[in-house]
Amino acid sequence: VQDASGYEGHPDKEFAPATPEELSSILAEANASSVPVTIAGSATGVTGGCCPQGGWLVSMRHVGQLVIERGRAVAGAAITLRDLNAAAARTGQFFAPDPTEWTASVGGSIATNASGSRSFKYGSTRRHILSLDVAFADGTRRHFRRGDAIDFDVPAIPLPNTRKNTAGYPLSPGMDWIDLIAGSEGTLAVVLEAELQLLPIPPTIDAAVLFFESDDDAFASVEKCRAEPSLRMLEYLDANSLNLLGESAAAALIVESTSEDWLHSLNPPGLRDDSWVAATPQDRERFRAFRHSLPEKVNDLVRRNGFQKLGSDFAVPIARNREMLDHYHAELSRHFPGQYVLFGHIGDAHLHANILPAKAEEDARGRELMLKLAMHAVSLGGTVSAEHGLGKRKANLLAIQYLPEVIAAMVAVKRRLDPGNILGRGNLFQGEI
Ligand SMILES: Cc1cc2nc3c(=O)[nH]c(=O)nc-3n(C[C@H](O)[C@H](O)[C@H](O)COP(=O)(O)OP(=O)(O)OC[C@H]3O[C@@H](n4cnc5c(N)ncnc54)[C@H](O)[C@@H]3O)c2cc1C
Repeated sequence: VQDASGYEGHPDKEFAPATPEELSSILAEANASSVPVTIAGSATGVTGGCCPQGGWLVSMRHVGQLVIERGRAVAGAAITLRDLNAAAARTGQFFAPDPTEWTASVGGSIATNASGSRSFKYGSTRRHILSLDVAFADGTRRHFRRGDAIDFDVPAIPLPNTRKNTAGYPLSPGMDWIDLIAGSEGTLAVVLEAELQLLPIPPTIDAAVLFFESDDDAFASVEKCRAEPSLRMLEYLDANSLNLLGESAAAALIVESTSEDWLHSLNPPGLRDDSWVAATPQDRERFRAFRHSLPEKVNDLVRRNGFQKLGSDFAVPIARNREMLDHYHAELSRHFPGQYVLFGHIGDAHLHANILPAKAEEDARGRELMLKLAMHAVSLGGTVSAEHGLGKRKANLLAIQYLPEVIAAMVAVKRRLDPGNILGRGNLFQGEI
């Protein structure tokens, strides 16, 4: 097994339970014999989270029932976001979080608290969960509704002042089970089924790819866009990203709005008049595919060169957005001129920097730079992971964000729910357990 980052897993044995009872008995047996269990959804994750280093791999691919009702869907863990949205669309509804990779599963999206291009308006997956069916490490199954508080005490921890955060457990006294399990990366419980909020598809969805002659103009437009309530997507691509996609501009913004005259009322400064404005739903789909092909190309390129993905997932407070953008450009163009791309969710002050190493020496240097960039993001009050989670490949970043006593509080929760440390071993924690 390999995930989208190129990280390899080596299970000793594989299972694909078809029923909750089957899953429970696999977990109970593993727990009794202290065998690590790693859960896999669609393996589109980018942190090695679903890739076991020994032990059992439990694929959720057969847990795939789907019911659509007014305002909600009940989806098995294996349902892909594509199938969920296709079925919801037939009733005029949609599932708002859009991690852009539509083959991702519901279970994996909940486990990573995925978000993506529409998080500017709708936030991350956690916010859209109404109830969860889960199994714990010993095989016990539980159903939790939104608001069901965890039945043990946890301390308040200093959470980053960012719009998105998926680094470790967001502990807070009185928190509910759903907030604890969402984003826990398969370390606390296995998601079997979720009741998810569906929203009505807006009557108007307008989209555009706006090209700019300078980063300054693009950023000034980001600030103007922030005040426009109809926007639901606000994405950035730098010149290198555009180059990789065969376009030429200093920067671009990809925008979706639920109003028709947003562009006119915004009047973005320095907008190039060859920008693309969607006239049809097909155009909108073309823009979406354009945006999504970027991380796909980056992941392919790096893997073809024989390396694993070397990308950041840091977010900073909105007030530090520009500062972080400038810092990325300064550091990356100094150390990897022409050999990086910077793109992503600028509306959430959350950009992905990806280095494209061609030699082992560049890969090693790139890793060092990523650590320094993580420290910088944290020094600005940011998070080391806004949406991908830390998995195994980035578990070392948790200690950049949190003091040992905070990590110890997370480990105490993990020990309480999974005393044998069988679930998602190696994810999130490095040697702390
Ligand atoms: C090209 C590309 C673009 C992407 N863009 C974005 C983006 O914009 N935003 C974003 O948030 N993500 C993005 N991703 C990352 C990825 O799509 C998400 O992390 C996704 O939600 C993972 O789902 P999955 O089913 O593939 O999970 P997997 O990769 O199979 O697993 C991910 C983690 O979840 C755990 N897990 C899986 N299923 C369960 C379950 N049922 N119960 C408990 N734990 C489970 C695994 O153990 C692992 O730790 C992108 C990925 C690619 C390849």
